Amino acid sequence: MTALVSLCCLGAAAQAQAVEVHNMRLWSAPDHVRLVFDMSGPVNANVFTLDSPDRVVIDLDSTDLDFDVDKLDLDDSAISKVRTGVRESGGLRVVLDVNRSVAPKSFTLPPNEQYSDRLVVDLDYPGASAVKDPIDPIEAMIRDQEIAAQRAQKEAVAEGNPEQAETVASAVEAQPHPKRDIIVAVDPGHGGEDPGAIGPNGTREKDVVLDIARKVKQRFDQTPGFKAFLTRDGDYYIGLRQRTLIARQQKADFFVSVHADAVRSSQPSGSSVYALSQGGATSETARWLAASENQSDLIGGVDGSLSLDDKDEVLRGVLLDLTMTATMNDSLATGGQVIDQLGRINKLHKSSVEQAGFVVLKSPDIPSLLVETGFISNPREEAQLKSSAHQAKLAQAIYEGIVAHFRQHPPPSSLLAWQRDQGRGGASNEYRVQRGDSLSQVAASHNISMKALKQANGLDSDILRVGQVLTIPGG
Ligand SMILES: [Zn+2]
Repeated sequence: MTALVSLCCLGAAAQAQAVEVHNMRLWSAPDHVRLVFDMSGPVNANVFTLDSPDRVVIDLDSTDLDFDVDKLDLDDSAISKVRTGVRESGGLRVVLDVNRSVAPKSFTLPPNEQYSDRLVVDLDYPGASAVKDPIDPIEAMIRDQEIAAQRAQKEAVAEGNPEQAETVASAVEAQPHPKRDIIVAVDPGHGGEDPGAIGPNGTREKDVVLDIARKVKQRFDQTPGFKAFLTRDGDYYIGLRQRTLIARQQKADFFVSVHADAVRSSQPSGSSVYALSQGGATSETARWLAASENQSDLIGGVDGSLSLDDKDEVLRGVLLDLTMTATMNDSLATGGQVIDQLGRINKLHKSSVEQAGFVVLKSPDIPSLLVETGFISNPREEAQLKSSAHQAKLAQAIYEGIVAHFRQHPPPSSLLAWQRDQGRGGASNEYRVQRGDSLSQVAASHNISMKALKQANGLDSDILRVGQVLTIPGG
């Protein structure tokens, strides 16, 4: 009798342990697809691939399926079909037929306030770009050269002997003007499992900010001299660090993250603009300097792996401080322009650029802003944020602010710099760079120091461009 009771209870316990998959969600990105299993409890999963044809197999121990896999929208993903079966041992087998080679990884997540236990399977596409229209290899090369020259310059300043760098590059003959595009990273906040803030009428931040970001990109792409890309162009999640990494990989000149605020009260409304705070910059500098941090991408990605001896560490600190300070100043100046434009079309929640330690603003070398376009928690503003016309106005304001900054401070190799110089060169204190010129030779022929010449022209490298117009100080 006693034995029978315990047997019955064991059986009940085993049955209660069978996990149920009650929902599956799929998020498709340009370089991966994420499949999420929502489950009634934790589960052991084994994920592996099979070739010819390419498939991914997901085996789940003691699990039942209570979801129709045909409901999954597979469009734009590498998954062409999802099949399921019951394993002999009593578990669930899910087979994903894939139309390209994929590298799977998986992890489980405990329940939170929004979701139950989850199994997340990411299929990465080897060699695929995280953005839809990645930077052209020639553009990337021009940017790398420019970044390397600026870095050499900063290093020489950090070492206390700026003349040293000049001897290397200052004798180099003027190069053809690349007339390059200024590259703007537009970052729609949130995405995928992370909806962001949700308005009283159910509007999701992730959707409206994607709409606005797409309009910002479109405005830049319509403007000669600019090119924009989206860090996220669809409904999928990207980590905060990943967003800044994508901006670095695409050699962005500027990064702007688009969000919509929410607070408990339905009253607050209006736009605000954030740049990185000094505290955020200081802690980020510390993070980059920490030995545990991978240094290989530091300041421009050209031979970033500085050695760890004491002198280099000090140098690295000074170098980072110089870079961070310049980046923050550019961010604040541009933020002021964006606030100015936003104030013309919308109420401002804060009338000057706010500063905070947001992770997406922490690129040491890419000026970055975060724009809170409005309060999705305010019913009136929620409705506006959904309106295409209002979205277009917000996008136009963000675009105008950034363009205004770059028209004032165009990077030397940009089309904007070249266009500006077309209208100059006639004054007695101006000199147009000819083929065969070098910085040292132009300085010598005008009887001025290279330092004075560079200062007068805000040059952050010693490379001259044919057609560039230099102001001759004291001339
Ligand atoms: Zn947000």
